[in-house]
Amino acid sequence: MPTTRDYYEILGVPRNADSESIRGAYRALAKRYHPDVNKEPGAEEHFKEVNEAYGVLSDEQRRSAYDRFGHAGISGMPFGAGAGFEDLGDLFDEFFRGFGMSTGRSHRSPRKGADLQTVVPLTFEESISGVEKEVEITRMEVCSVCRGSRAEPGTTPARCPVCQGTGEERRMRQTFLGSMVNVAVCSKCGGLGEIISSPCKNCRGKGVERKTRKLKVPIPPGVDDGTQIRLSGEGEPGTFGGPAGNLFILVHVKPHEFFLRRNSDLWLQLGINFTQAAMGADVSVETASGETTLHIPAGTQPGQVFRLRGKGVPHLQQGGRGDLFVVVNILIPATLTADQKKQLMQLGIAHNSPPKPQKHTLLDSLKDILRE
Ligand SMILES: [Zn+2]
Ligand SMILES: [Zn+2]
Repeated sequence: MPTTRDYYEILGVPRNADSESIRGAYRALAKRYHPDVNKEPGAEEHFKEVNEAYGVLSDEQRRSAYDRFGHAGISGMPFGAGAGFEDLGDLFDEFFRGFGMSTGRSHRSPRKGADLQTVVPLTFEESISGVEKEVEITRMEVCSVCRGSRAEPGTTPARCPVCQGTGEERRMRQTFLGSMVNVAVCSKCGGLGEIISSPCKNCRGKGVERKTRKLKVPIPPGVDDGTQIRLSGEGEPGTFGGPAGNLFILVHVKPHEFFLRRNSDLWLQLGINFTQAAMGADVSVETASGETTLHIPAGTQPGQVFRLRGKGVPHLQQGGRGDLFVVVNILIPATLTADQKKQLMQLGIAHNSPPKPQKHTLLDSLKDILRE
């Protein structure tokens, strides 16, 4: 039920108070009446009233409606987005820190174990075909002797006499805001709730021990340099029933001598001779999955690109493969016999045309290659 009391009276501020003093008054009252702090009867009602008053007086529009028409002026008027309440989290964090109270999780709440990472080097071929790799990692594991209890087998940890196993010490304190319960981590057991009189000798009472493990890691076909593979639960153990962390396998792929990879596509530069380019030929091309035949049509030019669909890298997520792009380069002989020179001279006479500018076919295919 909304209050019928005057909002200025609730916050104890004059009607012409500026937003700064309204905020200050609200913070002081919220601290005094917060139900986590104040267990006196009526405190919660007070706290609600204070919040309601601040919600109106901290919102310019609502405040002016209230000033003119009182409670009737704001009934049915929607709250502004989070008006007045957005700083509550800050307020109470600051508040509890000030009194040495923990608003975070208790020392005994489940926590996830740490994640680990290791690097696996692959050849280009392994990254295309997939492979099973063995990795060696060193990690903390639950102690094999005490199974994490931290106590020597045959002995049982005793319940902490100070906190009775709760891990927390509660003390009543008299403060200027009234009596408060101060909750702190138990000074005797450090929040664990147990006292171990004979610690496990294997782990020296830590509950975990360092182990070196060999793991088989299935690497799927199509991974790229920098791909991470997650092995769930192969990281370090969690505490207080929390899940183990994950192991991340970072793949490093050695670059190939000839193939250039862009996403799931491969690019290959193929040198053919002048005669093959001019007259056409079927040439053999190396692909990521064995050799194939590429038909070079007569009149093929340097920089011309041929696309072999499905001859690229397997897609990691969905099925299928990328494509192989073959960029043709025409090889010019570096040495010629006297007879060859004579034949070329004759060809030169037949094709006697001056040099001329051309469209950028070579540059275009380079741009295709370099576009990510
Ligand atoms: Zn142990
Ligand atoms: Zn204790």
